[in-house]
Amino acid sequence: MTSTDRYAVFGHPIKHSKSPRIHTIFAEQTGQTLVYSAQDVPAEHFQAAVAQFFAGGGKGLNCTVPLKELAWAYADAKTERAHTAKAVNTLALQADGSVLGDNTDGIGLVTDLTVNHGVTLARCRILILGAGGASRGIITPILEQSPTTIVIANRTIAKAIDLAVEFQGKGCIEGCGFDDLKSKQFDLIINATSSSLSGQLPPLPDELLAQNGVCYDLAYSNEATVFVRWGQEKQAQKSLDGLGMLVEQAAEAFFIWRGIRPET
Ligand code: NDP
Repeated sequence: MTSTDRYAVFGHPIKHSKSPRIHTIFAEQTGQTLVYSAQDVPAEHFQAAVAQFFAGGGKGLNCTVPLKELAWAYADAKTERAHTAKAVNTLALQADGSVLGDNTDGIGLVTDLTVNHGVTLARCRILILGAGGASRGIITPILEQSPTTIVIANRTIAKAIDLAVEFQGKGCIEGCGFDDLKSKQFDLIINATSSSLSGQLPPLPDELLAQNGVCYDLAYSNEATVFVRWGQEKQAQKSLDGLGMLVEQAAEAFFIWRGIRPET
């Protein structure tokens, strides 16, 4: 007897996750038979919940806030991009029973920007706001696109500097505080802080966005986020939220699990 392949997203909170809907649509579209559910898993229960999921026949997991670092530690082996991100959003059961960890967030962002929205990252001056897990995950895939420079600005300045130091040697990258952004200009500003979630905006100088520049908020919501609105006010060529990134990171996870790329 064969049972339907099971996948899930673990997070805390998880109620509003769009992942079950996205993966169910991908499965229908590609003719794959699978079920994908959402499970509320607090950090202290993560290890036991993952072990139980795979022992019970689960094939793959997505992990979201606040579990990505725990998933990184859980994985028996990691892809290079997960290794440098120090965070895992996709776990995949392997044929030998081991669990592979990957991070598809960065490639999801780059695909959304470059393929869906036609933004060229090569020779681009890029500012990343925030130095948390999401920032760490997007740096390597962005550097691979050969931007002129990446500046990471964060409220806690030491975290921005430490993060930049980690990636030095792979490209031109520096860390600073928001006050150091005065008189600087960027072609692409990525908001990777979680401030949009509370309707707040980091303190940004008026002239920060270059002419024809692009703004991208990793956060997404049914209405324009406060950072997307900031970009619109500053006459950004495009001011985008992170829904496209969410769909693209899901497509990459789907490909890892099923070997088929869904239409995004
Ligand atoms: P973390 O908690 O790891 O990091 C949060 C970052 O935001 C830190 O740099 C923190 O600064 C900064 N921050 C928080 N509040 C403020 C504030 N009021 N003003 C200025 N800076 C602030 O979160 P993640 O990196 O995991 O996630 C960041 C965002 O990215 C979230 O909105 C998340 O939803 C989104 N995301 C979207 C994805 C998608 O697919 N679209 C995928 C992954 C993440 P400090 O260090 O000083 O505390």
